[in-house]
Amino acid sequence: MHTIELFWTLQASANTAGSIERHCKNCGKTVRFTDTNIRRHNANGKNVYRFSIYKCEKGHTWNKKLAIYKSFSEHAEILEEALPIDGDAPEQINISDYLACGIKEVKIIIDHADGRFRIDKLLAEQLVGWSRTQIAQRIKAGLIRLNDQQIKPGVAVSVNDRISILIE
Ligand SMILES: [Zn+2]
Repeated sequence: MHTIELFWTLQASANTAGSIERHCKNCGKTVRFTDTNIRRHNANGKNVYRFSIYKCEKGHTWNKKLAIYKSFSEHAEILEEALPIDGDAPEQINISDYLACGIKEVKIIIDHADGRFRIDKLLAEQLVGWSRTQIAQRIKAGLIRLNDQQIKPGVAVSVNDRISILIE
């Protein structure tokens, strides 16, 4: 059984609902930036950066960094052959791609968490192929576990937590 191990750095999005005051380089002053609700992923070597794109009133953009994912493990070569991490890499965990690589279990280690992250919501955002409802069902069935324990979907993850996801 192939296992892939991922390290996640979680950063909270803006505290203000959808907008934030900050200096705009182009305007030359502090202005209000509004979340466009567009998300972008950039891969750089083995890190994947996730941004949300904000715009000031004049339309200048600012990319707020939301999360950094580092991907490495003793099994990393399996993933890298089939799913290149850089360039056109899939940014999220794509269940069917992982299955196609023979990966049956994904382990995620939270190496930084800035804020509270509900496990079901977090996984729904980062996993492609399963809805939040399906994720909640898998949590309840013990197929998604936190620190080797069966948990409830609303549990929050924190630093050094280990999420394991069986994807068979
Ligand atoms: Zn501006």
